[in-house]
Amino acid sequence: MTRHYNYLAIGAGSGGIASANRAAQRGATAAVIEAKAVGGTCVNVGCVPKKVMWYGAHIAEAVKYSPSYGFNLEQQGFAWDTLVKNREAYIERIHGAYQRGFASNGVELIQGFARFVDHRTVEVNGERITADHITIAVGGRPTKPDIPGAELGIDSDGFFALTQQPTKAVVVGAGYIAVEIAGVLHALGTETHLLVRGDRPLRSFDRDITDALLSRMQQDELQLHTEAEVAKVEAAGEGRLTVYLKNGSILFNVDCLIWAIGREPATDQLNLAAAGVVPDSEGFIRTDAYQNTNVPGIYAVGDITGEAQLTPVAVKAGRMLAERLFNPAMPDAKMDYSLIPTIVFSHPPIGTIGLTEQQAIAQYGKEQIKVYRSSFAAMYNAITPHRALSTFKLVCLGAEEKVIGLHGIGEGMDEVLQGFAVAIKMGATKADFDATVALHPTSAEEFVTMR
Ligand code: FAD
Ligand code: NDP
Repeated sequence: MTRHYNYLAIGAGSGGIASANRAAQRGATAAVIEAKAVGGTCVNVGCVPKKVMWYGAHIAEAVKYSPSYGFNLEQQGFAWDTLVKNREAYIERIHGAYQRGFASNGVELIQGFARFVDHRTVEVNGERITADHITIAVGGRPTKPDIPGAELGIDSDGFFALTQQPTKAVVVGAGYIAVEIAGVLHALGTETHLLVRGDRPLRSFDRDITDALLSRMQQDELQLHTEAEVAKVEAAGEGRLTVYLKNGSILFNVDCLIWAIGREPATDQLNLAAAGVVPDSEGFIRTDAYQNTNVPGIYAVGDITGEAQLTPVAVKAGRMLAERLFNPAMPDAKMDYSLIPTIVFSHPPIGTIGLTEQQAIAQYGKEQIKVYRSSFAAMYNAITPHRALSTFKLVCLGAEEKVIGLHGIGEGMDEVLQGFAVAIKMGATKADFDATVALHPTSAEEFVTMR
């Protein structure tokens, strides 16, 4: 027997779930196929467990600052396993919420690994399932380098599987994940070495912001190694590793090596050829602005498209697709990929939207760009010996000073950005920022008082 649906999503991650729920809400019969845990990367091995660990690190930092606030705490230690247990229990509750959402929307969750049979049919657990519309939302997986001993290291999935706190960790990579994991480990008390192959992490970010990040890492004594590439890794017994760098340095007694050098698309096992879907040379499934692949009736959303690899992007693309397919009032619905705000949960967090100063100058010429900056000590740590600077900046275009980039690193930046993103999306100018009454005392007020 073959089951048939109007809409079928392969992958119950951010994009698959959002699209199937919305399709069902618009009257389609809908199902989603998941090989592992419902919620995908974000819920199980991404945003959610990462943010819980980041909050844990945040509390560790608050304990560090607490004497300046008059507290005399006797720290009895930190139980990694308690944090992990509570984190996983929270994730279990999210799984339950997803199941209830499926039930109330009438979406069927099919547990198993899907492969295409043809452009309208997939096979899962030996059963064939057909659909009028099929969305590929299979996400990606962490990349490991091809060097001797690479398998001795773990990746971000492995980080979230750690049941014990590492004593000495090496994190390799220069993107979001490397910066976030290294920051968490360091704040929680692990001796942490972050290895980047260039001169800094987050190279595509605004340089004022990464300069500030470098200062904070130095001030916090996180051991950043620049121009550092791993040549090989060897086991040294008793769970210890020796990490050899190409520049001749050697890191001994490492009990946790984490590769965070990017993610690759999970398309290789899907049997795309049977459906006629052609991935690009890296395995990503590129789409047009409407999430259409090269095969009519087959779509792709989320990380697998190679576009901004962020949960809200996958969710929005999935929902817009479902609206277009099943809501006659929205025949042109599509995701707007411009001006996507993003946060790196570093210490302190980085928030960014729009063009960096460097990108703006390259695109419009130096004479068209005016930059406003503010570096200040946030009140939170200004009264402590860990006095550290936050850096906020605006990148403005032309005579009307339209704000085309907003960047910040500092306490609270993760919560500050969203509202400013609305203003920038609406085309706000520097004059609009100036016309807004400040909220005092906050860090955010710096954005409306820059001179
Ligand atoms: P996924 O969430 O990866 O879901 C794909 C699902 O498809 C998976 O569950 C997989 O098991 C399943 N699957 C794959 N192949 C098959 C198959 N053949 N059959 C059935 N099922 C299949 N983004 C943010 O916005 N904020 C953050 O703070 C953030 N933090 C992150 C931290 C880490 C460590 C990582 C790794 C990512 C983070 N991200 C964050 C990115 C975010 O997790 C992804 O952008 C998002 O999960 C992408 O959603 P998706 O639906 O495209 O894919
Ligand atoms: P990224 O693509 O962001 O960064 C990986 C970086 O590692 C590269 O940019 C590169 O930087 C460096 N690198 C690549 N290959 C090697 C190598 N062989 N050796 C050493 N360094 C290498 O990947 P991530 O895995 O960090 O994250 C994947 C995506 O997930 C992110 O882009 C983001 O979209 C999403 N994400 C979002 C988060 C959030 O919203 N807070 C958090 C985590 C992930 P360089 O060229 O400078 O060396």
